[in-house]
Amino acid sequence: MKVFKFGGASVKDAHAVKNLASILKTYEEPLVVVVSAMGKMTNAMEKVVNAYFKNDNSSVKYLDDVRDFHWNILKDLFPEDHSIYKYTEEMLDEVRYKLLTDPSMNYNFEYDQIVSYGELLSTKIISEYLEYIHIENQWIDIRKILKTDDIYREANVDFEISAHLAKDVFLPSGNLKYLTQGFIGSNKINQTTTLGREGSDYTGALIASFVGAESFTVWKDVPGILNADPKWFSNTVKLEKLTYTDAIELAFYGASVLHPKTIQPVKQNNIPLYVKSFLNPEEEGSVIGNFNYEKLVPCFIFKVDQVLIKVHPKDLSFIAEHNLKRIFSIMAKYSLRANLMQNTAVSFRICVNNDSSRILPVVEELEKHYKITTEEDLELITIRYYDQQTIDRVLINKEVLLEQHNQMTVQMVVRKL
Ligand code: ASP
Ligand code: MG
Repeated sequence: MKVFKFGGASVKDAHAVKNLASILKTYEEPLVVVVSAMGKMTNAMEKVVNAYFKNDNSSVKYLDDVRDFHWNILKDLFPEDHSIYKYTEEMLDEVRYKLLTDPSMNYNFEYDQIVSYGELLSTKIISEYLEYIHIENQWIDIRKILKTDDIYREANVDFEISAHLAKDVFLPSGNLKYLTQGFIGSNKINQTTTLGREGSDYTGALIASFVGAESFTVWKDVPGILNADPKWFSNTVKLEKLTYTDAIELAFYGASVLHPKTIQPVKQNNIPLYVKSFLNPEEEGSVIGNFNYEKLVPCFIFKVDQVLIKVHPKDLSFIAEHNLKRIFSIMAKYSLRANLMQNTAVSFRICVNNDSSRILPVVEELEKHYKITTEEDLELITIRYYDQQTIDRVLINKEVLLEQHNQMTVQMVVRKL
């Protein structure tokens, strides 16, 4: 059996849904198809929760926007008397009903209960559409399979129980397509949880590993995995093959093509992961697996809006274990993640994303023991499989503030000149 994952962009309007259906039609075999919320509906649902949590009446209006968005799609997919209109309204009613009650004190809990409707709506609509055009399919509520802990918005999956449940449900049969949600799961007492933004790739990879899939395919609006983000770079090249290790490293450094947690489950089970374009489905795309490269292509990852925090002990002590321990425990306390760090005898420098809600408390605590300076508006450039020529090319009009090399990767914190 194969597992497919379609993201929000691949189901952003009626035309896109029809395109998804036409792709599925070409696969005359059983599939598990994981689908995200339509278009930008997760952001739209976040607006509903934020207003609800602030006891702001506009939550109902934001939900109407969500309704209108789906309604426009329904009108282009179904005849007026189709039962999907009623199903959709019933699901929205569940949210409306929730909005009438007072929110609990737990924002993350409320978030998961409400935002998950993006996925429920989208998969229900798509399942009904496939049925309507005679593509045999079964809608599965993934919350009955993907069991998690109680960490709302960042839930951890219980692999053993979930694998067991998945094996019982996703049984290959004829041409049957199982249609289910990404991103969501449920805890022991069946309350909805979510796996973190953009978590559907991870859901797909987990299902693929649970059912021992022959492959996992992520359908995207790019031709495959590129060696750089076309937003920052012209002359990108598509990587035809990528090792699991490289894919993990690139995702970790911030390449946005796959959710960082996606690779491990498929790697462990040796399942090839394809990244293909839903706009040109007959094209090859990229494949992640166990390979030997014939040629190494430099890969670039840019992170903008970086901040460099420089730490100097006030007592002029060396940056050794006790100082490092203190610095890291303060960072851990506020979940501030270091994208790059470096120490000299008497200074420590950390490059982080510009998130003031984390940086400010960290700096405040550090200042008790250290002299701190920060520098904003920086970029972090990571090049895997670098050579001097590519480094020179990316450093045109840039000043390097911090640099770190290892055999495979160079990382540089730079300021634009
Ligand atoms: N719909 C969720 C999000 O946009 C999950 C996903 O698309 O992967 O974050
Ligand atoms: Mg999405």
